[in-house]
Amino acid sequence: MDTLIMKFGGTSVGMTTGLTQLLSIVIYEVERWDRLLLVVSALEGVTDALIEAAHLAQLANRRGYRRIVTTLRTRHLALIENLPLGTVERSALQADIDRLLFDMLDLCQSLADHHDQQAKPEAIDAIIGVGERLAARIVAALLRQNNLRGVAIDATDLIITDNVYGNATPNLELTRERITTHLTPMLERKIIPVITGFIGSTVAGKPTTLGRGGSDYTASVLGVCIDADEVWIWTDVDGIMTTDPREVSTATVIPTLSYEEVAELAYFGARILHARMIGPLRERQIPLRVRNVFKPQATGTLVNEQAENSKPALKAVTSIQGLGLMAPRGGPLHPIAALVDEALFKVSGTHTEVMISSQSSSHSFVCFVISTSAGHDALHNIQVELEERLPTLPDGDQWTMFPATIITVIGTQVDSLHRLLASILTALDGIRILGMAQGRCSLSLVVEPRSSERAIRQIHDLVINNG
Ligand code: ADP
Ligand code: ASP
Ligand code: MG
Repeated sequence: MDTLIMKFGGTSVGMTTGLTQLLSIVIYEVERWDRLLLVVSALEGVTDALIEAAHLAQLANRRGYRRIVTTLRTRHLALIENLPLGTVERSALQADIDRLLFDMLDLCQSLADHHDQQAKPEAIDAIIGVGERLAARIVAALLRQNNLRGVAIDATDLIITDNVYGNATPNLELTRERITTHLTPMLERKIIPVITGFIGSTVAGKPTTLGRGGSDYTASVLGVCIDADEVWIWTDVDGIMTTDPREVSTATVIPTLSYEEVAELAYFGARILHARMIGPLRERQIPLRVRNVFKPQATGTLVNEQAENSKPALKAVTSIQGLGLMAPRGGPLHPIAALVDEALFKVSGTHTEVMISSQSSSHSFVCFVISTSAGHDALHNIQVELEERLPTLPDGDQWTMFPATIITVIGTQVDSLHRLLASILTALDGIRILGMAQGRCSLSLVVEPRSSERAIRQIHDLVINNG
């Protein structure tokens, strides 16, 4: 039985033009697959607004979060006003939007009433996940209006996660059980489930979210748990590109990538995909496509295992924020590494996965990545946490901390083609390199943030000229 999961991002569902495209894509694909499942994100910018509302509620700024709720209501109502919906469908949708936002206001009020106490993290996740619940209802109504059997489904009943609020990881076994019970019967009845991305719940039923950009992860987890044949991510660019096209206008689409390459790319900062989504797909060898919702005729990027064997080449360059720590001494690095790990775990609920370090008798340097799924404030929060903890080390006063940018070049066999490595370093002539690390298909270089734009452009020139 051929099964396709299609995830539509915030730009696709945020405007009527995107929703019109979504509808025609679904009308086309429903004829070609036995089972079709949709995953939707919140309208573009909505999650940021919800995070801001939760923050204001914690500060008991009632006027602030009420203003956000009013703006969100107006935006969602204006969107459905412009959609070709029947009167019944439209007024049911208006009632749903009002109910969800009213419940969210209630949650904000309760946070504000108890602002002198530590906020319950599940209350914050319940607030920030409302955007996906609103979007799923809008998309499902649009499908029904067009004679498709769309039903909005809240993934809180499906995606069962650990209790790392704000950046949770699904438990595939428990999720698979839920899917078999709740989703499979619907698919047998030819219903198209429109599932909320980004959100889940703990075994105890407390709301969680999967980290920023988490709807991609939802699509991947569903794909694995329902044995999908393919997972497609529909977004606002032509596919996975040689670098972020918003930063460098000469970026071009990469037709094929291996799971390993795309995992490195996402891990090292390319916002296009959530970093943890690749692992489950790779394990099950489920092909992933990334396509432009506004250009459905283009094939986009295909990620699969065959791409593992392609010939040596530089494929993409990306960047991510990190923090560097330096001390004018040699000696063991493990005390500082342990300190960083504890601070990171406290702030983001995740352990350090990548640490670039270098050492000599007169110098020690460590730099670690702040995952993009940890959210915008993570860098600042980790810095504050580390500043508090550094004095607990015997030589804590010797360490200086500074923001760093990690530039990563992705390519096939980057590790074995020394000519490629040499050309990268030559391209960075004049840029101070603070540290370096090599993977099988990646080379990461730590630079000062002020040099990062130039470094990316220079390496990108190499990528598009193939080394
Ligand atoms: P969505 O709402 O569809 O999930 P995102 O904003 O999360 O969209 O991801 C798409 C964006 O990712 C693009 O608009 C682009 O600016 C950015 N991006 C970063 N790196 C890349 C890359 N290598 N290729 C394509 N897009 C990239
Ligand atoms: N809406 C969520 C976010 O903005 C999830 C997603 O877009 O994938 O992070
Ligand atoms: Mg995204």
